[in-house]
Amino acid sequence: MSPLLKTNHIHIIGAGLAGCEATFQLTKRGFEVILYDMKPQETSAAHHSRTLAEIVCSNSFGSINTNESATASGLLKAEMMLMDCELLKIAQQVAVPAGKALAVDREAFTQTVTEQVKANPKVTFICKNMANLPDDAWVLIATGPMTSTELSESIAQLLKREQLYFFDAAAPIISKDSINFDTAFYQDRYDAGLEGKKEQNGSYINCPLNKEQYEALVDILINGEKTELKSFETESASFFESCMPVEVMASRGIQTLRYGPMKPVGLTDPRTGRWPYAVVQLRQDNAEGTLYNMVGFQTNLKWNVQKQMIQMIPGLEEANVVRYGVMHRNTYIHSPEVLKPTLQLKEYPKILLAGQLTGTEGYTESVATGMMAALNIARLCNHMEPIVPPQETMLGSLLRYITRPEAMHQNFQPINSNWGILPELPEGAYKRKDKKTRNKLYVERSRVKLLEWIATAEESLISV
Ligand SMILES: Cc1cc2nc3c(=O)[nH]c(=O)nc-3n(C[C@H](O)[C@H](O)[C@H](O)COP(=O)(O)OP(=O)(O)OC[C@H]3O[C@@H](n4cnc5c(N)ncnc54)[C@H](O)[C@@H]3O)c2cc1C
Repeated sequence: MSPLLKTNHIHIIGAGLAGCEATFQLTKRGFEVILYDMKPQETSAAHHSRTLAEIVCSNSFGSINTNESATASGLLKAEMMLMDCELLKIAQQVAVPAGKALAVDREAFTQTVTEQVKANPKVTFICKNMANLPDDAWVLIATGPMTSTELSESIAQLLKREQLYFFDAAAPIISKDSINFDTAFYQDRYDAGLEGKKEQNGSYINCPLNKEQYEALVDILINGEKTELKSFETESASFFESCMPVEVMASRGIQTLRYGPMKPVGLTDPRTGRWPYAVVQLRQDNAEGTLYNMVGFQTNLKWNVQKQMIQMIPGLEEANVVRYGVMHRNTYIHSPEVLKPTLQLKEYPKILLAGQLTGTEGYTESVATGMMAALNIARLCNHMEPIVPPQETMLGSLLRYITRPEAMHQNFQPINSNWGILPELPEGAYKRKDKKTRNKLYVERSRVKLLEWIATAEESLISV
């Protein structure tokens, strides 16, 4: 136990991505954690497994930066690795092939995290659907987008305001042995040329569609029966762009999917030697490579319609669907009004929040805020000022963005890492259209600033 903590423990509610990362960060700094989760006794409508840190939809933590290309999500992960993020280390241990993305075997990931949490002598795990917050204690709330109704109400009461809701959806998963490889082919975009073979020749499985097949698919997506939303859900439903149901995307225009998840460019059908009209891509979902998820096909279609829709896709005529797509409510607070960039509640500085509940969006972002909240709890308990990474870092910008005062009275929408929230580079640092150089400069700047910050932040709180 930390000497300054005396009899206090840190209470973490929610053993998901943010809660588990925070638990690891605090215990490795000597703190004792009481970790609550309603699983496995109860699960939300989006959670299925009995294990902790479940990844509920795609098995990808997003792209990784290489010397050739950089993305905003890749930058966030690079920063998290510099800050010794524990869950990303586990993700790397159980990674599956996914081109330039960090995708994991979901079972191995969640199993490893659960085993490490439960074997940790500094963690007391309590299986409970928490309706209220512990009194007069350091508390981290990390109950995620599916926070139970009772706790949602308690948080709303505490914050003296209504909570906000939005919706997103999970994609179907298919067993590989039911895919017809006379039609489907392995290939990563642009990685294989005309000589593309039907055998493993990339990480993704591609199902090629001609114009007629594509239009029939769009038609069933738009007109197929959907799961009905309850009235309060319909009133407030809005879709987050990066996890938008495929049918909503299809309804935006006949060509929308061909410029989105069904984009054919760079994928050469070995049977024709040409790019198909459209493509459905499948990404490996487990280490054994027996399961594949349909990239971008998060959906709210009724299960029987999903089956029909999937079997219309060339190569998937006899697909065995091991998990159908689902759609759920998502819960988050109005962070600009109630949260500080340090992730403390403005009115209750001993209560911190992390994960999707704060209005960041995505697995990686949830882990990142869990890590940051834990660092600040550790500092506060040791009578140090809480900190926020420099603005030039993706994490620093994210924390400032979700708590920006300008959004205090605006409709607040969740956000994931993106270049647009970073402070601009000096005038003339790159040619206006040269995004590749711009991104590289952002990455270099972040690294310099973050290393300076780590060096000046009091020892033991950044590195162990
Ligand atoms: C359907 C769906 C699909 C998504 N798909 C993606 C995706 O593909 N890619 C992506 O990057 N992000 C996705 N997200 C967004 C987000 O990244 C994940 O939800 C992520 O798991 C959030 O992490 P978290 O730590 O905030 O919450 P979670 O990982 O959900 O963890 C919260 C934990 O709190 C527990 N809990 C809730 N209420 C209580 C309570 N009252 N008492 C005790 N325990 C409680 C839950 O059981 C859960 O274990 C999706 C979200 C949803 C809902």
